[in-house]
Formats: sequence, structure tokens, C-alpha cells
Amino acid sequence: METRMRTIGLIGGMSWESTVEYYRLINRGVRDRLGPLHSARLLLDSLDFSVIAACQREGDWEGAGTRLAESARRLEAGGADCILIGANTMHRVADAVEAATSLPLLHIVDATGDAIRAQGLDTVLLLGTAFTMEQAFFRDRMQRDHGVRCLVPETAGRAELHRLIYEELCAGQFRPQAREYLLELIAGGVGAGAQGAILGCTELGLLLGDADAGVPVFDTAALHAAAAVEFALG
Ligand code: GLU
Repeated sequence: METRMRTIGLIGGMSWESTVEYYRLINRGVRDRLGPLHSARLLLDSLDFSVIAACQREGDWEGAGTRLAESARRLEAGGADCILIGANTMHRVADAVEAATSLPLLHIVDATGDAIRAQGLDTVLLLGTAFTMEQAFFRDRMQRDHGVRCLVPETAGRAELHRLIYEELCAGQFRPQAREYLLELIAGGVGAGAQGAILGCTELGLLLGDADAGVPVFDTAALHAAAAVEFALG
């Protein structure tokens, strides 16, 4: 008998390294819930990240939003039941994406905020691109809707992490030295009062792997994928 399952619509390619991880995590989640031969109903619209990254660099959020909105409409036309933006940074244009279709947008901050609150924490370190750490779209929603305060690294740490994300992680390079650097940033955040750390860039979980950060770590890609599985299976 066919299992009733809703179709997940994923805007991916930002970068594809983490899109692969979303695909793996979502399918594994469905398999764990339904049994060994089950896999997710999923539509992927994979964008050319160089185009999106150029919009980000130029501050052309409207252009980026238009591209993601078009992507969401393609997913809706293909039969998706929800939309996921497979990146934290591009939640900067979540409103434009949400307005583009009649489908629910599963927001990465909500998936993450729920997990943080479930552990009873209220102050965490936010790690991600400079856009995610420095602009308001992630932190404000986290504070307003989940009561969680986000600390961020100092200027030099933010700049180096941003560089690592674009020059190494999005290009498929995951070096042990970069992992050590991530652990140092987390330790610094803990010293400043953070009770845990948000991996607020969808490639950071791939870098950290199973390394022990000493505090709870919230991997946005994994939590977002889990929210999608929950939506699909209801
Ligand atoms: N995947 C990353 C994120 O979660 C960075 C790439 C991007 O800027 O979209 O933010």
C-alpha cells in the first residue's frame, strides 16, 4: 500500500555541498520513520550558486529574491506541498519567497529555535556568513519568535569564518585546520556567555562532523531537514 506523504520542495544549490546533505538527511529521516525501502517525495530546484553569490556581494537582495521566488514557483508548479530554502543566508529574502506561492515556507530559524528552546537554552553563539551574523533577519526572528539571544564572534572572527565558507566550504574543501578554527570560535562564544552554538550556515555541519564542541551544537541543515520530514509525514 502506498504511504501518504507530502512532497517537499527544496530550493538548493546554495551550495550544492549542503544540498546533498539535505537530500541525504531527508531521505534518511523518512526511512527511519517508515521503514528501510521508503524514501522522500521531494522536488529539487537547484540554482547556480555563483549567480546568487554575486547578488549577495553586490547587495542585490531584490535580484536574489526574484530568482528564489521564481524557483519557488517552479516547485509549486511541479507539485510541491511546501518550500524549503536550503541555506541560512538566503532566508534574507524569505518574505519574497513566501509571497511567491500559496505554499508554506518552512523557515530555518523556526526549526532551529524550537530545538534550542527544547533544550531550555536562551543564549547561543550564531555562526554563519557575515550576512547571517551581522544583518537582522536571522537574529531578530530568533529573539522575537523564540526568545533566544544570538551572540556573534568578534569582527576578525566573523571575517575569517565568512572567507572560509565561500572560499573553502562552498567549494567542497573541509580541512582539519578549518574545523579547529570553528571549535575555537565556539569556545570563544562560550567564554562570552553562550550556552550552545548555532551552525547557521548549512555547510558548517559537514565541517564539524562528529567533533565534540563541549556545548550543544544546533546544525541548521539537520534541523531544517528534520522539520521537512515532519511536515511530509505529518
Ligand atoms: N549555505 C550557506 C548558508 O547557509 C552559505 C551560502 C549562502 O550564502 O547562501 O548560509
